[in-house]
Amino acid sequence: MAHENKNPSKPMNRPGGGPGRHHGRVFVEKPKDFKGTIGKIFRYINYNKGLFIILMVIMLLSTLGNLLSPVLQQKILDSLDRNNTDLFGWDNTKKYIILLISVYGLVIILSYFQQLVSAKLSHETVRKMRNDLFKKFVKLPIKFLDTHSHGDLMSRMTNDVENISNTISSSIASLISGVMTMLGSLAIMLYYNWALTFVSLVSVVLTLLVSKVLTKKMRVYFTNQSKILGELNGHTEEMITGYKTVVAYNKEDDVINEFNEISNRYTKTSILAQIWGGSMGPLMNFISNFGYVLVTAVGAWFMVAKFNFIPAVTIGTITLFFSCNKQFSRPINEIANLYGQILTATACAERVFEILESDNEIDEGTKTFDPEQFKGNIEFKNINFSYVEGRLVLKNFSLSVKPGQKIALVGATGSGKTTVVNLLMRFYDVDNGEILIEGKNVKSFSHSKLKKLFGVAFQNDTIFSDTIRENITFGRDIDDKKLRLAIECSQAKEFIENQPNGIETWLTPKGTNISGGQKQRLFIARALAGNPKILILDDSSSALDYKTDSLLRQNIQKYYSCSTIIVAQRISSIKHCDNIIVLDEGKIVGNGTHEQLMNSSSIYNEIYQSQMGGDIDE
Ligand code: ADP
Repeated sequence: MAHENKNPSKPMNRPGGGPGRHHGRVFVEKPKDFKGTIGKIFRYINYNKGLFIILMVIMLLSTLGNLLSPVLQQKILDSLDRNNTDLFGWDNTKKYIILLISVYGLVIILSYFQQLVSAKLSHETVRKMRNDLFKKFVKLPIKFLDTHSHGDLMSRMTNDVENISNTISSSIASLISGVMTMLGSLAIMLYYNWALTFVSLVSVVLTLLVSKVLTKKMRVYFTNQSKILGELNGHTEEMITGYKTVVAYNKEDDVINEFNEISNRYTKTSILAQIWGGSMGPLMNFISNFGYVLVTAVGAWFMVAKFNFIPAVTIGTITLFFSCNKQFSRPINEIANLYGQILTATACAERVFEILESDNEIDEGTKTFDPEQFKGNIEFKNINFSYVEGRLVLKNFSLSVKPGQKIALVGATGSGKTTVVNLLMRFYDVDNGEILIEGKNVKSFSHSKLKKLFGVAFQNDTIFSDTIRENITFGRDIDDKKLRLAIECSQAKEFIENQPNGIETWLTPKGTNISGGQKQRLFIARALAGNPKILILDDSSSALDYKTDSLLRQNIQKYYSCSTIIVAQRISSIKHCDNIIVLDEGKIVGNGTHEQLMNSSSIYNEIYQSQMGGDIDE
């Protein structure tokens, strides 16, 4: 059994579609263009420039407060030292204590506002990004959706955007304050005693070295752990979805053995990952304690030895170095941890920008075209078309539709019927040839005007989670008379009336509270309700019984004067059409009325014969 992830919404290489986190460590997903993407993120942050500036000011003030506190601590201690002639005295002690308490209070208030502002900044930034992304989704060419898994696109909209938001809110403030704090504490340490500064930096360098080595080791185990977890999920998912097949083929033992093997590997790797991960904390603690001891010992030595070339050291100086050392090394760890998160978020942002920067729907035509001028002339002229380069799906396809004509497309699955509809509606553009509406190339019409011509019921159309009324009118300005006619013609009236709230009944997403046939009636009602000039029914009556299907046909004939293009599998649905086009592998292999084709087309005869079991004559 293959262990790939079958759920496109959860790509296996990107656990959970976002960063994989284990015990606070982050798997780094590397962006292709780090600098460029960060620039683009900042362009989005720039939409809220005011908030960003406020955040910078708050950060600056709170960093200053944080830097001031070790200095005040030093002053308090030195003011208690009789030998310190400059500072000794209770008045000084009191003054510095009050100052220190005020600074602490201010820092607390500032940090509250900092969180508030950075949360607002991140959410406002991604709100704009999310809205732009959704707007873009709606405008994307269908071709783009063909080449990207829907799960992947959804993951960009949700996981990736969420990840960017979290990273902005947690990193921006930490990064800014981290850098400010490091520079500030280094400056203070250097100002008070350059020699002790170098001693302090020994533990910082050690911290950096050890964490680099450990992180490298840990990454291997955590990455493996995530990969094996993917396998485990894939296996379980496959087992649950394919349960019936597994049982039917007596494969239970094999499946269990395979699961145990993966599970054992997972346990082993997880234990190793934990061992390495667990060693990080104690080692870092040890190094920082070692740093304190070193500063105390060397500081005491300087105090006693009183070297000329080293500034005088007091007890206060040593405590100041304790605090400054702590403040200097804290951001290093924080930034090291954030770095992974920032890389991952940048990779997420790259995926989001890939969509935002992709080309919009195929070019908008410029000629204004009034759908009211449409009389019913459509012409496909020598069309060649391929979805994938080099694989022609329609070959030299030509077809002419006269006003009010009913045209049918028949042929085996994959023969290109839906493709004809896709091209007419300009979901795709032809490779060569032309599609003309009233003698004008469809490429010259604006999209919105062109689409006004059509009423379409697709093969696997969509029910939206809304009322039946909204599902039919679909936000269009449709009066009650038109709505009633569409419902009656599509024979949805009876079943709608039987719903608990009639036409106001709320449909569940995907329409799980109505049957397949009922859904198809709603799709047809939706197509008819706009009183279209061109009605397209793409295999949209397959779930209707013969009687309903035939009544539907008669109703459309009676009440709607549109040109109609029907794609159907059942001959009974199309035998009354004015012109039936038989397609085979993208080529027209026959056309004419039912009777003409019965006499001339062997493929049409084959299809007819294969359906003889059905109630062909109505
Ligand atoms: P029909 O409606 O007759 O069943 P289609 O027009 O849907 O056939 O498909 C014609 C051919 O084009 C098939 O071989 C199908 O696999 C291919 N095809 C359809 N849609 C796409 C697509 N979005 N990308 C690539 N190939 C496609």
